[in-house]
Amino acid sequence: MQLRQACNEGILIPWRKQEPEAFKTAEELITTDKEGLIFQPEPGIYGDVAELDFASLYPAIMAKYNISQETLGCSCCTDHTVPEIGRHTCRRRDGLIPRVLRPILKTRSEYKKRMLDEGIPAETRMNYKQRQTSLKWILVTCFGYLGYRNARFGRIEAHEAVTAYGRELLLQAKEIAEGYGYRLIHAIVDSVWVYKCGITEKDAMALANNISAKTGIPMTFEGIYRWLMFPTSRTRPALAVPNRYAGVFNNGEIKVRGIELRRHDTPLFIGRAQKEIIETLSLARSPDELYLYIEKSLGIIETYSSQLRDGKIPPLELAISKRLTRRPDDYTHSVDTAIASQSLLARGVRLEPGEEIQIIITSAKDKDPASRVKPLTFSLSDHSYDKEKYLELLLRAAETILKPLGYDAHRLKKILSDQHEICNQLIG
Ligand SMILES: [Zn+2]
Repeated sequence: MQLRQACNEGILIPWRKQEPEAFKTAEELITTDKEGLIFQPEPGIYGDVAELDFASLYPAIMAKYNISQETLGCSCCTDHTVPEIGRHTCRRRDGLIPRVLRPILKTRSEYKKRMLDEGIPAETRMNYKQRQTSLKWILVTCFGYLGYRNARFGRIEAHEAVTAYGRELLLQAKEIAEGYGYRLIHAIVDSVWVYKCGITEKDAMALANNISAKTGIPMTFEGIYRWLMFPTSRTRPALAVPNRYAGVFNNGEIKVRGIELRRHDTPLFIGRAQKEIIETLSLARSPDELYLYIEKSLGIIETYSSQLRDGKIPPLELAISKRLTRRPDDYTHSVDTAIASQSLLARGVRLEPGEEIQIIITSAKDKDPASRVKPLTFSLSDHSYDKEKYLELLLRAAETILKPLGYDAHRLKKILSDQHEICNQLIG
């Protein structure tokens, strides 16, 4: 689109771009070479929280602040300063990239508006939704492309200016929200989670409109959560991890990020167990009601663990995807990926770095590394798995969700083994 715009306007396109990054001192590098701003959440469960998102923040910044390869550091202006990093963009001449972006931003916001019209048929709504989503991804890639070395109209300094404005705008959003008595729970690049006792949708929408008006970048209201949970970090239990949460909006829609269920290296079986637990807890209308659904959640864990113990889970359900970081024979330690890719190699299949391998854990603590895991392909004919290890993964996924409610993996394991004992006694 950039090249087409340039052709239409008679702008020369560089045949080979030769514009290396300008020299920076170490201090300048530290100031400018940063991504979006993050406010770390405190681990725990929250109610009365609203999520607000800046719509297409980075492209909107490029359009509003005229950020483009040729507008940055122009010689005709000096007074339009990019926050934090002290460069400026031109005020007199409109940049090429903003000219390309503006119609896309406008069209996307029009589709989003039309989507909300209640009078339209479902099919038309879906059509608008798909169109606005595809435009969204074009806008997202435009930001990355701006920092890409070989992009004809890209420039790393322009890329840095965008994130600098982004950090400033997120701070402004935080301050505006706090001015209205909200407390910031979490924020990440272009989204904020704010708390206020008894918050209503009307309040949250008013806040979003206020932030839009004051910053000049449209902010949309995503929803109010029945409950929102930030699990603790596994390695640093006093902290939560940014962008790792599970929550349920007032309309019942579940939103999760960063937890096992969303990770591609989680076995399907474990992901499904965690999903079922969250679906059960999603019936709670507030954090206080979560306790009503614990018993049922424990039941789900029992069902899944007894299925594991029966040894009948199909291999595909237990496969763990890993990406090779080096060639199979270049690994020096017996990590799972090394063992599995080497056994494939022994049968004549050579994987390259970057390729994925699917692994079944067969005997995690075996003295012979070669027996610890095997590739999924070998499990299709001869299938056995390490029940204890998979149980541990199951309990870990359950712990992510249930620990804030007082159930860590240790306690869950105890409950399971007590249950198991009672069953055995009954059978006996
Ligand atoms: Zn200028």
